[in-house]
Amino acid sequence: ATVYNGEWNTPLYKGKASFPTGLFINGQFVAGSNGTTIDVINPTNGKVITKISEGTAKDVDLAVEAAQKAFDTAWGLKVSGAGRGELLNKLASLMERDSKELAALEALDNGKTFNWALGTDVSFAIATIKYYAGWADKIHGQTIETDERKLIYTRHEPIGVVGQIIPWNFPLLMLAWKLGPALATGNAIVLKPSEFTPLTALRVCSLIQEAGFPPGVVNVVTGYGNTVGAAISEHLKIDKVAFTGSTLVGRKIMEAAAKSNLKNVTLELGGKSPNIIFDDADLDQAVNWAIHGVFWNHGQACCAGSRIFVQAGIYDEFLKKLTAKAKAIKIGDPFGEGTDQGPQVSEIQYDRIMGYINSGKEQGATVHYGGERWGTEGYFVQPTIFTDTTPDMKIVKEEIFGPVGVVIKFEDEDDVIRQANDTVYGLAAAVFSQNINRALETAHRLQAGTAWVNCVNQLHANVPFGGFKQSGIGRELGEYALSNYTHVKAVHVNLRYTL
Ligand code: NAD
Repeated sequence: ATVYNGEWNTPLYKGKASFPTGLFINGQFVAGSNGTTIDVINPTNGKVITKISEGTAKDVDLAVEAAQKAFDTAWGLKVSGAGRGELLNKLASLMERDSKELAALEALDNGKTFNWALGTDVSFAIATIKYYAGWADKIHGQTIETDERKLIYTRHEPIGVVGQIIPWNFPLLMLAWKLGPALATGNAIVLKPSEFTPLTALRVCSLIQEAGFPPGVVNVVTGYGNTVGAAISEHLKIDKVAFTGSTLVGRKIMEAAAKSNLKNVTLELGGKSPNIIFDDADLDQAVNWAIHGVFWNHGQACCAGSRIFVQAGIYDEFLKKLTAKAKAIKIGDPFGEGTDQGPQVSEIQYDRIMGYINSGKEQGATVHYGGERWGTEGYFVQPTIFTDTTPDMKIVKEEIFGPVGVVIKFEDEDDVIRQANDTVYGLAAAVFSQNINRALETAHRLQAGTAWVNCVNQLHANVPFGGFKQSGIGRELGEYALSNYTHVKAVHVNLRYTL
């Protein structure tokens, strides 16, 4: 497999970044078994950046074999927790050393701005790896009292070979959320990045090699969902699959798991999160957060606050301020000074978003701001605000995954909670009010895995994240995520108990 070398001379980044273009199996970069490749496209101009190897089901078999061997001989219960933690910390240090390179690759591949990639994606990914490094030697079971003539304890054992499938919106960060807890608990991994954004995962593989992880502990098979992704989810020798992506594909993963070996499944799926602004909120702050809520990462955030509910008394003023802020968002080159918003990730996503915008127009909503393509090349979409919507419209019900929000008027608590919970999703929700009782009572009544009060899109490595309803199964991050990657074994020891 070859190595891609890129060079930048931009206001934000002057320097190089490189990554190997092969699959990472058993500690080596290799070509896919078919010898075919996938074009990786730069969303800023639609041009091919490079080609990466296309994996196949056969490559997944090879990766599983390597992972199983590593688990049995050089990882799993063969390495102490402290040893695993040390390697994770080494990986975090190497990511820190190369943080600008990683940010450049993320901005190139995904289209997010270099500054956001560096300040959020890369730094949060490093924080996540460090956080789980800390857990590696603190994983233990319990002793459980039953009868003085018995000793009973539990062990939290690694599952073995786990499969992980991740999306394109936060490629490096989702990689870190997956690798951290799985490695801390001693599992060996076969991971598939999104075919749209494989670059940072491949760069991290070279750091995994450099950190000194035993070959086969982490294997990355780049390729398409319906081949490599499907092979992982139906593999008979993978006992757990962790997936982040759309609800549609999440359903397929669960079905494949059920039909194959009933592998354990965790899912982090889509959302249509409500952001509720009461009339006693700090209005300017609420506007700032609402903009961040819906337009952060170009709206490509699973927890995006894409349904903005505003109480009737402040609706007009809020909308005016929100529109002024939306107008001030600077669209452009991810490597350009002061750019707030780059392109959407791909042509497919661009078309999908424009399709939703058109459906909003056709179904009678008002385009209050935006609603058009930006520029003439690449996949840019103007920040878009819809008003005059009805609950049955597609733009109100479905996840758009682009810079498109709907602003909806409400009367009181009961009204807004009914509307906010009227969705198949339940990933996150936010409430803005300076009345603590009102804010907390509302937060408690919302059906969501995360409820933010007077803020939006806040995530921390030590705080669990995941969905109610069709937004997912299980929790990532925090101590909670460790249980996704361990079996609990109860050991009964007979001391003096006779039959
Ligand atoms: P996607 O579901 O299309 O793809 C996700 C991954 O699944 C990719 O690697 C893809 O190749 C793979 N895949 C596709 N078909 C598959 C199949 N049949 N079998 C196995 N794998 C398959 O999602 P996406 O478009 O990459 O990402 C956007 C979605 O991810 C949004 O719905 C978003 O809400 C969700 N998301 C959720 C979270 C969360 O934590 N809840 C975080 C980020 C993104």
